[in-house]
Amino acid sequence: MFDTILIANRGEIACRVMETAQAMGVRSVAVYSDADRTARHVEMADVAVHIGGAAPAESYLRGDVIIAAAKETGAQAIHPGYGFLSENPDFVEAVEAAGLTFIGPSAKAIRAMGLKDAAKAVMEEAGVPVVPGYHGDTQNPAFLADQAKEIGYPVLIKAVAGGGGKGMRLVERPEAFGEALNSAQGEAKTAFGNEAVLIEKYIQQPRHIELQVFGDGKRAVHLYERDCSLQRRHQKVIEEAPAPGMTDEVRAAMGAAAVRAAEAIGYKGAGTVEFIVDGSDGLRPDGFWFMEMNTRLQVEHPVTEAITGVDLVEWQLRVAAGEGLPKKQEDLSINGHAFEARLYAEDVPKGFLPATGRLAHLAFPEGTRADTGVRSGDEISPHYDPMIAKITTHGPTRAVALQRLDAALAHTQVAGTVTNLAFLGALSRHRGFASGNVDTGLIARDLDSLVDMDDATPQDIALAVLSAAGLLEVQDTATGFTLWQPLNRQIILRHGEKEITATLRSLSCVAHDIEVDGETIEARCHGGRWMLSGAVAPPVVATGDLITVFAQYGLAFHRVDPLDRDMQAAGHASLIEAPMPGLLKALFAKAGQVVQAGDRLAVLEAMKMEHSLLAPRDGVVAEVLASQGMQVEAGAALIKLADEDEAAA
Ligand code: ADP
Ligand code: ADP
Ligand code: MG
Repeated sequence: MFDTILIANRGEIACRVMETAQAMGVRSVAVYSDADRTARHVEMADVAVHIGGAAPAESYLRGDVIIAAAKETGAQAIHPGYGFLSENPDFVEAVEAAGLTFIGPSAKAIRAMGLKDAAKAVMEEAGVPVVPGYHGDTQNPAFLADQAKEIGYPVLIKAVAGGGGKGMRLVERPEAFGEALNSAQGEAKTAFGNEAVLIEKYIQQPRHIELQVFGDGKRAVHLYERDCSLQRRHQKVIEEAPAPGMTDEVRAAMGAAAVRAAEAIGYKGAGTVEFIVDGSDGLRPDGFWFMEMNTRLQVEHPVTEAITGVDLVEWQLRVAAGEGLPKKQEDLSINGHAFEARLYAEDVPKGFLPATGRLAHLAFPEGTRADTGVRSGDEISPHYDPMIAKITTHGPTRAVALQRLDAALAHTQVAGTVTNLAFLGALSRHRGFASGNVDTGLIARDLDSLVDMDDATPQDIALAVLSAAGLLEVQDTATGFTLWQPLNRQIILRHGEKEITATLRSLSCVAHDIEVDGETIEARCHGGRWMLSGAVAPPVVATGDLITVFAQYGLAFHRVDPLDRDMQAAGHASLIEAPMPGLLKALFAKAGQVVQAGDRLAVLEAMKMEHSLLAPRDGVVAEVLASQGMQVEAGAALIKLADEDEAAA
């Protein structure tokens, strides 16, 4: 076994790998960028090496600097985590050339699976069923359109170099093919520097079921399936294992196909074989097709660990160190059911925009597996994926595991940034999902009800009011004291777009009446515990002027200083600001330019998406305050329009 390994990654996956390394007595070396100097993964490591600037290209993607750090610190092996360099065969070769071990498959196996078209060809040869379609070299549009017709609509265009759902277009009718092809190629070119595409039959009512495989370079086993059908825009949201409705017969067929796939390329280490499954008529042994293989540890590996009892990172280290497969297929079995939910800093009502912010508070319920790379006080920075944590629950049955997920989400506390927690909670209570009726279209179909959030109740507001007034902390000695005359005051809070004015009437320091929305809430403290009109108050955390009430997945209130209010209300319809942190990919506005409302003035790229920034009204560009290629924070002023009277003059 290695005595020291370097983890070429950050965030939750770096922490996850270190946990196992530590449990095995292996020293871990962390690498970090400027933005991660005090990150959790740095704190956890035995040694940490600074490798460069915040942008991934200046740090986590610099293979040469990372290899030098490994040599310097005496590491014998490098674990790549996922993302970044994990599926980069040139990096694997460089690691090996430096006399180090790459904890993962060979460069050759990664290359065989790196492009979706080549991978499909290899799998076809190995007798693994692949999605019907065209995955050849000819790329001229007329030819591809013919292929699409032959395959039969609807079809899916995919970038052969694709990942993260980029360069993928669903085409329902022949008339739409040309334009979809164009935009898929364009996106593929920018994202992957490779505009080649393949065309697939679009499977109706698709389910995404993937097999965890593990190889030693010759033989492979599978560790059963994960169902990742709960997706938004082809990205996984909640994953589970095993797959609902799976039968022994289908499992045996899928498992055998996955093992055949892994053995066909001499796979070593942990990998995932992704299948698309036709869910329209139950699962059938002839109703699944190979989509792609991910040659790394997967984000959702914890659900597999939960049902098999296997520590996949431990297996990775042991196999990389030269041991054979730790278990034979017949020694593996499934115990119960598990779910994983991906908790992100994102603004769900605003179309799931990635968000940033300092986590004023972060806590997970005891007894729940929460894989995270951040702590209270840490920043979700614009430089990386805005994932806060993965929450995994396990139970003897699917129903119990799901109920535990629901409870775990309800008791997760995040303050300081918006999150998708309420959305995840709504999913965990979705009837169709609970009955195991999953397909990749579920979220899109029910989006409106899933993102519809309940309003804060008068009780929640009353609690925020007490916190804003500094009345929640009660001194024991003060308990009996009564004011000779009730004290009245007004408290103003902002909650989302709404401003709330409440009247607080203090009877004593343990008794207050709060009038909100015409309703009076009686707040009474008994033995240090606040009751609101008879119900126990939920937890509250206040930092600065932010107050978070942990009801309904966290309700954020801001104290409003009445003096500041008028200034904010003025608004700046003349200023175009970055709606979220991101990279200013294109800037079309020039000073002096005449624009019309709705004109596209800039394009902001933020985690896997591009957003057009439009002119809010007709006018003249007064000033351009940013430049193309700049990384900008949320709220950064980008373009200023001339005041309307100024422009008229
Ligand atoms: P999965 O199918 O497991 O969700 P993805 O291919 O979407 O895998 O990506 C896995 C993870 O890798 C993402 O959640 C993200 O955190 C990370 N990732 C992907 N691409 C990049 C990148 N270019 N830079 C940094 N991290 C990335
Ligand atoms: P990526 O590399 O972006 O992960 P995949 O090929 O794995 O791309 O596809 C991502 C998702 O797109 C799948 O999980 C599934 O939801 C959907 N998808 C892919 N291929 C098909 C298909 N042929 N029919 C229906 N849905 C598909
Ligand atoms: Mg995929």
